[in-house]
Parts: sequence; structure tokens; C-alpha cells
Amino acid sequence: MPDRSAARLPRLLTALVQWIDSDYTPEGPAKMRQEPDRVDWMRCLPFLILHLGCLGVIWAGASPVAVWTAVALYFARMFAVTGIYHRYFSHKTYSTSRAGQFLLALWGGTTVQRGALWWAYHHRHHHQHSDDSEDVHSPHVHGFWWSHIGWITSRRNFPTDYSTIKDLARFPELVWLNRFDTVVPLLFALAVFGAGELLAVHAPGLGTNGWQLLVWGFFISTTALFHGTACINSMAHLMGRRRFNTSDDSRNSFILALICLGEGWHNNHHRYQSSTRNGFYWWEIDITFYGLKALSWTGLIWGLKAVPKSVMEEAARADHAHSIAAARQAREVHLDVSPLKRVVPAAAAIAVATATAAGTKLPEKADGAPATERATDARPENR
Ligand SMILES: [Zn+2]
Ligand SMILES: [Zn+2]
Repeated sequence: MPDRSAARLPRLLTALVQWIDSDYTPEGPAKMRQEPDRVDWMRCLPFLILHLGCLGVIWAGASPVAVWTAVALYFARMFAVTGIYHRYFSHKTYSTSRAGQFLLALWGGTTVQRGALWWAYHHRHHHQHSDDSEDVHSPHVHGFWWSHIGWITSRRNFPTDYSTIKDLARFPELVWLNRFDTVVPLLFALAVFGAGELLAVHAPGLGTNGWQLLVWGFFISTTALFHGTACINSMAHLMGRRRFNTSDDSRNSFILALICLGEGWHNNHHRYQSSTRNGFYWWEIDITFYGLKALSWTGLIWGLKAVPKSVMEEAARADHAHSIAAARQAREVHLDVSPLKRVVPAAAAIAVATATAAGTKLPEKADGAPATERATDARPENR
């Protein structure tokens, strides 16, 4: 088929150029975004290589220092995804200087999740269209695997729509990092390799070297980081409990909050996106928030935003309603067993309901907009 091979060659060349310059779109980014979903294998080759690189462990072997490096770099860079790409670039939940912003973008670049602007553009789009037909990574619309990994392989999702992130696109240094989004990951990989080579020479007792540290600190750690992050797209709209009756299917999950340093409190976040913290209570562990609080003490960032009182009151009302429902259910479920088994869960549920109610001054009538409406105050300020 001469026509098809003639069309294939420009697509191949385009993909090759896009490896280096991700803003290169001969047909224009708008047209590319209008295409139907189609996996671009050539464009995704570096992503496949990232996964295949993990197999390098067969030849490079393992050592305690290599494994711990992988773990440390996973968490240091998960913090970059959550605390920087998400809570700064996507939602501006705190402030920093222009130089600070550039440093944060460099840190974010080491995550190998493309540029901060591409990430923020897609994330803001997700909040605008959560779980509707426009949402490019909703598990309810496209299925689990597409929401987890498929959407980033599709050609139409490659270009960044700078017109929707004007507050970020006005900084040429950020646009440059976004356009040449392989520069920071390559320098990072080189630094990890170099550190391993230095250890091999100066601390041979540790039993590591450049290749081994590259496999563990870059390939394995980055692949795990990708899938940990992707769990928020796929699992956080499927697994866990809904406190707020938001118009999407976002959920709160303790397990996801541990894997993703606090991002598992996704239903809280969908209810109110402008807050620096996603865990609304002390028991909702949010390590990203603790890290950002610590960073604010250094002066690099400031102006961390709190959850408004009205949202906390809404949370208390929602929790109270859940507890009452649990008490009712417990009364009905255990009718066929002993009276003790019937009484204990009901008493526990009522105790929780009472404690929740006692700790909160419940208004006589629900005020403000119902939770089912999208919170207009939750949009990033500068959009
Ligand atoms: Zn979501
Ligand atoms: Zn968000």
C-alpha cells in the first residue's frame, strides 16, 4: 500500500523529532488534539525503554545502597509530582519566587513525567471534566488500563495547550523546560550513573557501580514512580470512600495516600482544590503537606492555603450522615444473630456518630451550595 507507507514515514520522522522537541507538531497542536485516540508506538519508545531498562537488574545485580537509592529517589520524586507538579503548577496552592519556581520545575523534571506545563494542562483539564466524556483518563469512561497508562500513549494527548495555562506559559524558562522535556531526565540519569561510578572508585566496599545505580535509581525507581502516580488517575476514582458528594466519582483512600504521599485523599481534593493539604484532618496522613510545611520554613515557598471553614463544616456534616447511616445498617444487618452481636456494632456506630456530632457545631440548616455542585471557589485563582 504505497499511500499508507508514504504517510507512515512523515509520522515516523515527526515522532523522532518530538523525542527532542515536544512542541514540534507539523499539522498544528489543535489538529493533533482533535484526532481520535491512537497509540503512537514510535513516540512511546522511550517510555517502553524505561520499563525494559528494569530488566537490566539481571546483569547489574543488586546491593543495599542501590536498593535504598531507588526507594529514596522514589519518595523524593513522588514529592516532586505531588508537591510541585500538582499542588504548585496545577493548583497554585502556595507561592514562590520566579527563581524558586524554576528550581521546583527542575526538581519536577527529574520525575520523567514530561514538563510541568504539560502536566498542569492535563490535570486542570481533568478537574474541569472529571469522569465525563471529555476526561482523557477517567476509568469510568475509558476503562482501567486506558486511565492508568493508555492515555499517555495516545497522539492526541502529546501536545501542550498553552492557551489554557497562560499563567504558566508567560515564563519562557518554563516553556523551554516543557518543550525540551528530555533534557532534565537525561541529566538526572547521567548524575545517578556518575554517582555510582564515584562510589565504585571511592567506596568499593558498598559493592555498587554506575550501571547498577542507573538500573535501580533511575529505571526501577522511575517506573515505580510512574505507576504510583498513575494509580491516582485509575484507582482514586474507583477505590475508597466518598466523603463529599462531588459530581465525579473521586474517592478517599488511606492506602493510596501512603503510596502517593497524601494524594489518596482525592475526594477531599476534588471538593476543594486550592488547599495545600489534601488530608483534611490530622489522621488523614498527608506527607506532601508536611514536606511543603517544612519547605516553607526555609523561605523557598510561602502562602500555604488552608481548607476554608465552610468546607470543614460540610465535611463534618457528611461524616455525621455516614455514621448515622452506619448505625442504621448495623441495626438491620444482625437481626438473625445473638442480641450481643446486634448491639455491639450498633453501639459502636452510634458512639462514632455522637463523637462526630459533639466535636462539631452543626448548623440547623445546610448553608451554601449543595455538595453536588462543583465548587467554583476551588478553581486555580489565575485561570
Ligand atoms: Zn481526579
Ligand atoms: Zn488536582
